[in-house]
Amino acid sequence: MSPSAERSLSLLALERFADDCSNRGHTLCGSSGGCLEALESLRGLSDVEQQADFYDLSATTAPFQGLPQHHWPASALIRLVKSSLLEVPWTDSLRRSTHTTLALARLGELGFPPDALVRTYLGAALQRQVLLTATAFRHEIMRNGLDIRAIPSQLQPWLPVLEADLSAETSADLSFPDAAAIVTTGAASKTATDWVRTVAVAHLIDWRIDAPLVTTLRPQGTVVPAGRDATVWVFDRFSCTSLDEWQRTSLDWELLWLHSPAMVADSVGLSSELLASRPSSERMVMTAIRRRLLEGAGDDPLVAGLSSVELRSNVVALLQRGQLEQARTLASRAHEMAPGDDTLTNVLAFCTIPHDPAAAKELLNRTRFRGGEELLVQKANLATVDFLIGAKHQARLAVLTTLRTCGECKAWLWDYTDPGALPSLTYRPIRDWARRLLALL
Ligand SMILES: [Zn+2]
Repeated sequence: MSPSAERSLSLLALERFADDCSNRGHTLCGSSGGCLEALESLRGLSDVEQQADFYDLSATTAPFQGLPQHHWPASALIRLVKSSLLEVPWTDSLRRSTHTTLALARLGELGFPPDALVRTYLGAALQRQVLLTATAFRHEIMRNGLDIRAIPSQLQPWLPVLEADLSAETSADLSFPDAAAIVTTGAASKTATDWVRTVAVAHLIDWRIDAPLVTTLRPQGTVVPAGRDATVWVFDRFSCTSLDEWQRTSLDWELLWLHSPAMVADSVGLSSELLASRPSSERMVMTAIRRRLLEGAGDDPLVAGLSSVELRSNVVALLQRGQLEQARTLASRAHEMAPGDDTLTNVLAFCTIPHDPAAAKELLNRTRFRGGEELLVQKANLATVDFLIGAKHQARLAVLTTLRTCGECKAWLWDYTDPGALPSLTYRPIRDWARRLLALL
């Protein structure tokens, strides 16, 4: 029996008991009305659990766009900083750095140390993103003769950093995933770690390594008072909806928070109200722990120090920059490492669509999503491949299913609807995308 079915059964049983007990003048519960209190408490509990189950950070933060304002919730500010820091800094550079700096200042006012977010929580992902991007450009230079002057100015000073691990002689035949794995674990990675630790935040936002501005940090400024794991927990719960994406130690902190909220709030230096604005339940945490221990879900690094979730965002980043070959080889290596990981299978299928739609379809049909955004994206991708291989009837069915269930959801999808143009990658409401495709079917 599912936990929610078990809960409604307990609720039903207690309702009948309380009814019966009330009719007999509370002789069953000892004349205290305790039966009604127990009923109220069980009802309250299932409300909390339901809130936790239906909580979705993308939906909660979606209305907050543009310049960060005073009324923005912490989750919207943290997500803005996270997404802009890990995106390449050369598109809309000024706007990006203004918004990020302002969001960090607002977070500081709420009690979140900005350095803890940028350096401790996002530092490792940021340095990997920078190194992978530089490696991808280097690959373009070596393999396809890309002119070095075509590389964004922020990234050019990173190329010599890579030379410590990838000299011209030793790295000529390396595939992109192999080069990426060497760079993210070797000498370049050490340079990047020092960069994250010492360079002023404004330069981290801009990915600048040539700027001399170095900052002297007090070590306590880079974590909340309870330490590193507590810092990661605080930001995990405000930036990742699924507990599968949290660090393992964050699940321990979440359990502790559910049992002793005041004590935990005090030890991380944030208010209980602020922490409670992200609902969760013990059942949810236990489910996540079970999935880690028994089903192998979680954040273990697979390729180049990247977990499944990070791989997905890196592959999208490579695709956005038109580095299709690197994206596909990275996704394919990740899929080899964890063939049972449906997210990665979906990612590989996505990269395979322009190259071989029939193979992409086979991969898509292998994934088993029960619901949520991933199922929606899988359906949308199936519609694309059916369209490409000429199975118009099936494509139409898949688009209609997608339209029925997509709501306001946005996603990265291939757009083939512009006649005569090359397929392009688009990030927009799935509904708009589906309507455009439907018009061709
Ligand atoms: Zn009673």
